[in-house]
Amino acid sequence: MPQVPARAQDEDVAQMLDDAAMAFEKKYERVEKKPLGEGTYGEVYKAVDRATNTVVAMKRMKLDQEDEGVPSTAIREVSLLKELNHPNIVKLMDVFCSQKKLFLIFEFVEQDMKKYFKLHGYSQISPSGPKQWTLPQNIIKSFIFQLLRGVEYCHSHRIVHRDLKPQNLLIDKHGHLKIADFGLARAFAIPIPKYTHEVVTVWYRAPEILLGSQKYSIMVDVWSAGAIFGELATGQPMFPGDSEIDTIFKIFQKLGTPDDGVWKGIDALPDFKKTFPKWKTKGLDKIEGVATALGPQGVKLLEGLLKYQPHERISCRASLEHPYFEDVDHSIIPSVAHCEDEDML
Ligand code: ADP
Ligand code: MG
Repeated sequence: MPQVPARAQDEDVAQMLDDAAMAFEKKYERVEKKPLGEGTYGEVYKAVDRATNTVVAMKRMKLDQEDEGVPSTAIREVSLLKELNHPNIVKLMDVFCSQKKLFLIFEFVEQDMKKYFKLHGYSQISPSGPKQWTLPQNIIKSFIFQLLRGVEYCHSHRIVHRDLKPQNLLIDKHGHLKIADFGLARAFAIPIPKYTHEVVTVWYRAPEILLGSQKYSIMVDVWSAGAIFGELATGQPMFPGDSEIDTIFKIFQKLGTPDDGVWKGIDALPDFKKTFPKWKTKGLDKIEGVATALGPQGVKLLEGLLKYQPHERISCRASLEHPYFEDVDHSIIPSVAHCEDEDML
């Protein structure tokens, strides 16, 4: 066989990949110029699968700034999502990677929870103004149930999401909730390794991360779910800090400044200072709107999700059995039947 020079081979492969990328772009037609969302790694567009006429969401990530090809975040997102098949996790339908671009095709979901909040008067609330937050109690219950069920599924597949927040939760027209954006997620091995510092967007970030803990676990997702639950109840973010320290103080103001009695070992956390202001908690049920929206059992669940000590937080599995969910409205919750048996990508 004649020897083909290595460089020519590389160029051929590059050309092949570029052609395939173009073919892929033809397979899906973008229907709106404006992206649905723009985040850290790329853009998400509404598109149509020409063959089936199905509306899809196309997440396009440019790779050209990357020295080493496909960024590790993207590889992680794809390999994790391929493993997950659950009605509360956004479905990855197709993947294509060329040298310059990575495309992820997802089922299209009408809106994210942040946009949903806006439609329900969230942005118009001011402490002095009229109360306009009117999310029905059964919807609040259904959303938090679906979120915890999706997170429990991730955890049972040894995946910690690490970036749960309203922008990463999609809501379809039936009121079904789907967890998206696994860009920061990672599989955890046992024993839990040390993770890096920068993870969850500050408002939903667990206090152990904010205080610089090097070791943290699936319980960071439980905290985020708690912060989202409080937001669902009141129409206002629980801990809207403009920095890490501001978020810590917002947490302390609502839950009380923790000491070694409340949180064993807190003194040893790198960013904990004995000189922090000492706030006393008034109780989560005293936050305006919480008790009315959640009732006594809902308040108990919220308290369980927002425990300072990670291991004291209620696990997602246990939370699904909580009395608060006794009368959860199953008519607005997608069934999980057969999901695990479906063919995976
Ligand atoms: P990033 O990593 O850039 O934050 P996301 O996956 O969170 O990317 O997507 C950014 C935004 O695009 C989301 O906040 C949401 O508004 C929108 N979006 C993401 N996935 C979908 C989808 N499957 N259907 C409809 N909109 C989506
Ligand atoms: Mg996102």
